Amino acid sequence: MQVPADHMLEAMPLPALIIRRDERIGAANAPARALLGREIVERHFITALRQPDLLDAIEGCLRDGTARRTDFLSLNARQEMTYRVLVVPLPLASGTGVVVSFEDVSHLEQTVQMRRDFVANVSHELRTPLTALIGFIETIKGPARNDPAGQARFLDIMEGEAQRMVRLVADLLSLSRVEAEERVRPSDPVDLGDLVRATLHGLTTIASDAGVTLVQELPDEPVRVPGDPDQLRQVLTNLVENGIKYAGGDASVTVRLSVPDFEPRLRGRGVQLVVADTGPGIEAIHLPRLTERFYRVDSHRSREKGGTGLGLAIVKHIVNRHRGRLRVDSTGGEGTTVTILLPLE
Ligand code: ADP
Repeated sequence: MQVPADHMLEAMPLPALIIRRDERIGAANAPARALLGREIVERHFITALRQPDLLDAIEGCLRDGTARRTDFLSLNARQEMTYRVLVVPLPLASGTGVVVSFEDVSHLEQTVQMRRDFVANVSHELRTPLTALIGFIETIKGPARNDPAGQARFLDIMEGEAQRMVRLVADLLSLSRVEAEERVRPSDPVDLGDLVRATLHGLTTIASDAGVTLVQELPDEPVRVPGDPDQLRQVLTNLVENGIKYAGGDASVTVRLSVPDFEPRLRGRGVQLVVADTGPGIEAIHLPRLTERFYRVDSHRSREKGGTGLGLAIVKHIVNRHRGRLRVDSTGGEGTTVTILLPLE
């Protein structure tokens, strides 16, 4: 069977092109033309491809007929894309040329980069309280050796720093647990009304200490969704605690549960759970990034309030696991409203 090589290229979903023995591009399929330019066919490969590693690989393959791998970077719509490139010899009537194919591996690069950033962030978050602890230990052993009142004060601060590390580690563990289970949708029936009542009850003391009023608006009948009760409780706790932490004295945090008939965003029947506060709100530019790990609007305030910067990231993963939707709305100065939609079945 003799099939023209350029026809075969058209059947390939990856960008691919053929370079002839005379070093000109003999054929390029549609994805290759989209990646490298419409007019590349018949151009010399050096002017069409321009990246030294790729040019070396092609020259080498044309010279000795052995396949090579390399990388290719392209700047596409402001985003940098990374391609793994395979350069393979191709026997043609006019002499041996090469086939070049490009596999988009940008998502792998992004994952590697995200993992690197995450490790750097975690290290930084742990190093800050550890540095403080070491500083106070040295003070207690040295200058404050004979100062019991000072020692007691430093020990209180050290306790706070140690508790910050405990919270951080606990949040990291819940995040990794939720991520590990994210593909498995939970199925236990959970009564959200009961869950809201129990969670708010558990938070009464910290709310009243902060001068914040907790309000619940729940339907009379039970509202059951398939879910993981511990994780849904964590969602509510994180959101209500944020309301208490950031809204400050004299504010209120309201948890509202309602069952709209049909929820277009879920393409089915859904439950709406809203946590709204009357605090200072969040400026619009921060809203899209709030659920990123360690993203904080005001790092100083978050740390001062004992925040780990992971609360909303955990919420997002739990909502995803429940096949729900999460939205944060806020108008600076007028409070923050977090809306969660959960499918009823
Ligand atoms: P943190 O542990 O810092 O509270 P979160 O992931 O829960 O981390 O929240 C991320 C950031 O979003 C917080 O640092 C805070 O700046 C902001 N934020 C969250 N909830 C509220 C809220 N109800 N009102 C104002 N700002 C909020």
